[in-house]
Amino acid sequence: MDLQIKEKVVLITGGAKGIGAAIARACAHEGAIPVFVDRDVEAGKQLQSELQSAGQACGQICVDLQVAENCSSAVERTLRDFGRLDVLVNNAGTNDRVGLEQGSPEKYLASLQRNLLHYYNMAHYALPALKKSHGCIVNIASKTAFTGQGGTSGYASSKGAILALTREWAVELLPYGIRVNAVVPAEVMTSLYKEWLSSLPNPEEKLQQIVSKIPLGKRMTNAEEIAAMVLFLLSAQAAHITAQFLFVDGGYVHLDRALS
Ligand code: NAP
Repeated sequence: MDLQIKEKVVLITGGAKGIGAAIARACAHEGAIPVFVDRDVEAGKQLQSELQSAGQACGQICVDLQVAENCSSAVERTLRDFGRLDVLVNNAGTNDRVGLEQGSPEKYLASLQRNLLHYYNMAHYALPALKKSHGCIVNIASKTAFTGQGGTSGYASSKGAILALTREWAVELLPYGIRVNAVVPAEVMTSLYKEWLSSLPNPEEKLQQIVSKIPLGKRMTNAEEIAAMVLFLLSAQAAHITAQFLFVDGGYVHLDRALS
């Protein structure tokens, strides 16, 4: 299958580690140019030298996306360095455990800033370039928008809003032929996941318990499996797919929890 993404410039937020880095590697492998925007300088540098030493073009932008001007400058730098922008992958997020009981109105607002506002800001600033390229947007959400998790109001509600924005933008951007879809991961072993797990009383026991409830294969999803779906969605092969929520989770969200 020819994805037809060679030379396409793909801006990936949170693209230096975890799922974002897997998306960047997959893009580069297919001849696209990933530009990763991430506040982790070292991880970004490592990924950049890994891709460049394999002869693959890429860009690294080190900013904190919580500042709206940084979202604007990330788009500007991409256009300056590569001359175009074909895809925005909104991916950066943090399960920051701002709940009802242990949170506060201030912490809740800060969580929305960490998880939601930059999705809007990036799309807003990228839109003129996406209109020119007839590009597309892929938003990374989370199963927590559907299942809840407990103790993480800011993160879960951000992910719910991201799904609503996916449908809203799909409608608004129809006249420009810009497709907007969301991918919904559940359990993927990344630095974010490890950090969440280590915050629990018995991490190893909890992990076994979670894995035992993943219907397909009783295993975590690989970051590469999320990336494969993202690549398909941003490719020409998905030309008639918009406003969709794609679950890459081994059946975790939808299949009967009573399955043994
Ligand atoms: P990860 O391993 O923590 O990687 C995310 C990267 O984004 C990190 O380098 C992080 O830097 C960076 N980042 C976060 N907020 C940023 C900001 N404001 N500005 C710049 N960079 C920022 O996370 P992941 O597990 O790959 O998660 C990626 C996405 O998938 C997130 O939206 C997450 O909600 C979603 N997701 C993940 C899972 C899972 O099981 N892993 C499940 C459902 C949904 P720092 O390390 O400095 O924070």
